[in-house]
Amino acid sequence: MLLGCIADDFTGATDLASMLVRGGMRAVQLIGVPGADDPVPDADALIVALKSRTAPVGEAVADSLAAFHWLRAAGARQFFFKYCSTFDSTDEGNIGPVADALTEALGCGFALACPAFPANARSVYQGHLFVGSMLLNESGMENHPLTPMRDANLVRVLSRQTTGTVGLVPFATVAQGAQAIRRAMTGLKEQGRRYAIVDAVTDADLVAIGEAAESHALITGGSGVAMGLPANFRRAGLLPDASAGGAALPEVGGLAAVLAGSCSRATLSQIGRARAELEVCDLDPLATPDADALIAQALAWAAPRLGETPVVIAASATPERVAALQERMGRAAAGELVETALAGIADALVARGVRRLVVAGGETSGAVVSRLGVRSLRIGAEIDPGVPWTYAERTEGAGLKLALKSGNFGAADFFIKAFAA
Ligand code: ADP
Repeated sequence: MLLGCIADDFTGATDLASMLVRGGMRAVQLIGVPGADDPVPDADALIVALKSRTAPVGEAVADSLAAFHWLRAAGARQFFFKYCSTFDSTDEGNIGPVADALTEALGCGFALACPAFPANARSVYQGHLFVGSMLLNESGMENHPLTPMRDANLVRVLSRQTTGTVGLVPFATVAQGAQAIRRAMTGLKEQGRRYAIVDAVTDADLVAIGEAAESHALITGGSGVAMGLPANFRRAGLLPDASAGGAALPEVGGLAAVLAGSCSRATLSQIGRARAELEVCDLDPLATPDADALIAQALAWAAPRLGETPVVIAASATPERVAALQERMGRAAAGELVETALAGIADALVARGVRRLVVAGGETSGAVVSRLGVRSLRIGAEIDPGVPWTYAERTEGAGLKLALKSGNFGAADFFIKAFAA
């Protein structure tokens, strides 16, 4: 095991894992911190997925340290703290406090911080985070319900969250390549800075930053800055050639299904597109606001239709219908009703032999994974950017192939493409 990663949310963990797999590493995502006696999966990178982004600070720090200690005992040589490419956090945390705890536990005294992800239009210039051409605080992120980002200057943002001080490696240095970046970071560390925000505008910048951080105990950032890490391990002779195939998953045959609980625009159009080729069951929680009844309906519909060709079961609805249910039940109860129903349907489908399952929706995926008792996900090749097939190992029962899709991810033909892949 080479790289031990701690991710502050579930889909962010998958995003990072996918990046490492693309670089030829074998990656396994773990759902929460494993127990001390749990086996260490055979992989080059292990990514512990936490729910620490918006947790109370103390809890986020404790969970992150527990993940760190487990990963260190598992043999990790380098550590990566993954957060969102929009630096989602508040003045209380949790990026600063978690990074502080990790640098202290490692005794390394310094870490770089770089959320840039040019492929998703996130760049950092003169310490300022841009989303496309907009500064972070004008990108819509200033209105985020949990982590409103009202300052694009990451040196300032991180300074407010840490007991240490924060410097900058500016673009003019980054553009000169790995050696110049390494020198600048060493200089900042010698000045007593605990962190360096590092500018990055292109993938080539990220690769150079990764190379410059080869000997760092801890790297913090978005998944983008992990881009250069596989090459470091390869240069050190610790990782085989990129063509060795990090993405190979165990073969899984059997019945197939799609479950959709996302009401995001991309998912709605993916369901629309699927109707031309696949059978779709539209659940109507407004007409049947009862999880057990929805499960029974879905199973009665699916039973005669299950096969190698996937069936699609969707609770997804237009914003008007979602609002109507929320008005009747309350926002949280409406979400929970649908999540409970879809998780129950997933469980029943797996009991009936479904072994290949696509789930649309971040919260929905979380509910399904926890209901199915999934312990770890071995990450395979991407179906669309950010959404790989994975092989799920469970605490009990057969292994499954799962593709967990954040609502707005994937092309219009995602559900069809997933099973052709
Ligand atoms: P996304 O990734 O698109 O945000 P999520 O699964 O995270 O998708 O969130 C969608 C939420 O909407 C879930 O809590 C789900 O239970 C809820 N939901 C799905 N369908 C309906 C519906 N018809 N009415 C109300 N809420 C719904």
